[in-house]
Amino acid sequence: MRIGIIGGGASGCYLAIRLKELKPSFDVTIIEKNDKLMKKIAVTGNGRCNYANLGDLKGKYNNDEFANKIINNLPPKQIVANFDKYGIHPTTIDNLVYPVSLSAQTVILMFEKRLQELGVKSCLNEEFLDYKKDNNGYSVKTNISTHVFDVLVFTSGGKAYPQLGTDGAVLDVLRQHGYEIETLSPSLSPIKTKENTKKVSGQRVKCHVSLFNGCELYYEEDGEVLFKDDGLSGIVTLNMSTKINSLEDKNKVKIVLDLARGYGTIKEDEYPQFVNPKVATYLKDNHLDIHKLGFSFKAFYDYNVAEVSHGGISINEVSDSLESKKEQKLYFAGEILDVDGMCGGYNLMFAFASAETVAKSIVR
Ligand SMILES: Cc1cc2nc3c(=O)[nH]c(=O)nc-3n(C[C@H](O)[C@H](O)[C@H](O)COP(=O)(O)OP(=O)(O)OC[C@H]3O[C@@H](n4cnc5c(N)ncnc54)[C@H](O)[C@@H]3O)c2cc1C
Repeated sequence: MRIGIIGGGASGCYLAIRLKELKPSFDVTIIEKNDKLMKKIAVTGNGRCNYANLGDLKGKYNNDEFANKIINNLPPKQIVANFDKYGIHPTTIDNLVYPVSLSAQTVILMFEKRLQELGVKSCLNEEFLDYKKDNNGYSVKTNISTHVFDVLVFTSGGKAYPQLGTDGAVLDVLRQHGYEIETLSPSLSPIKTKENTKKVSGQRVKCHVSLFNGCELYYEEDGEVLFKDDGLSGIVTLNMSTKINSLEDKNKVKIVLDLARGYGTIKEDEYPQFVNPKVATYLKDNHLDIHKLGFSFKAFYDYNVAEVSHGGISINEVSDSLESKKEQKLYFAGEILDVDGMCGGYNLMFAFASAETVAKSIVR
């Protein structure tokens, strides 16, 4: 059986490995437009690759029930055990799992070694352009040649970080083939605010962050916020962006920071006791409340700084085994699907678990 995988990132490479492990006679080819496989893995987790999370998975994804059902096919502990066998030994920091080397390069090297041992073919510098189904199977046109496969899997990611190959062009092709694509937008992205933050740009504050949808408290988290010239960043802000993506009317979104939670009433001249002097001066000069520093959502930052994209192939287009409901023997895995998670290893976990789901289905 000839299997074509479009996109040699996290889900594509893991899928290729699992297919050959489960059925060595399969002829598996990855088509990747970059000159190397897994370029994005290199930048994950600040170069450390946070590839799993051993904590509670509830409420971590947009399509949470769907995502958790897929993750049940390869639970986090199983990802860690499988990776350990490939030579990616784990270390865990507050439930977040990294390679013990704390280097994403370990993941890339060990995956490359396994792909080679198993005889997976990779066509690098080859860009998928379109496909056609006929009696021979799926005929795939690239910028270089035409390939024919019995089974086709799209693992070409979303639209975030186009500088590493994921520009969303494959989704445009799939739209033309009649697939429903949920509207794409940057997620795990810094947020532009209507308020000017230039005076405190570069400053970090530890705080309690509340996200309001109109008057309703929609989400809250403790963490560190980094002020930018025109908005907010830091992990807690990136998590807010995934929650904002789920809201229809973004004009009603307010973010409120409590910079001194649990300390009761604080006079303006006491602010430097709780936040660094630059932030204290900013609050004082603008008569802002240290417990209720409010911001109105203006926009997300661009795709080139967002860690994932929200939207993609609608989950209504696929079965539980991630096979297309429209076209037999055509599958999707990873970020190309309308699943995006919060910071903490959830997105790579979904990439690996969805690849496992597809591998087992093809073998069946
Ligand atoms: C800066 C950054 C940090 C991150 N950190 C983490 C983290 O620590 N933990 C975590 O869980 N997630 C993290 N993520 C998110 C995670 O990397 C992605 O969700 C994950 O890589 C998605 O896997 P994928 O296989 O679906 O797509 P990708 O890994 O994006 O791979 C898709 C591949 O398809 C290729 N491709 C696209 N179009 C074509 C085409 N036309 N023809 C051929 N090939 C094509 C691309 O070049 C790419 O190699 C991070 C993302 C970024 C950008």
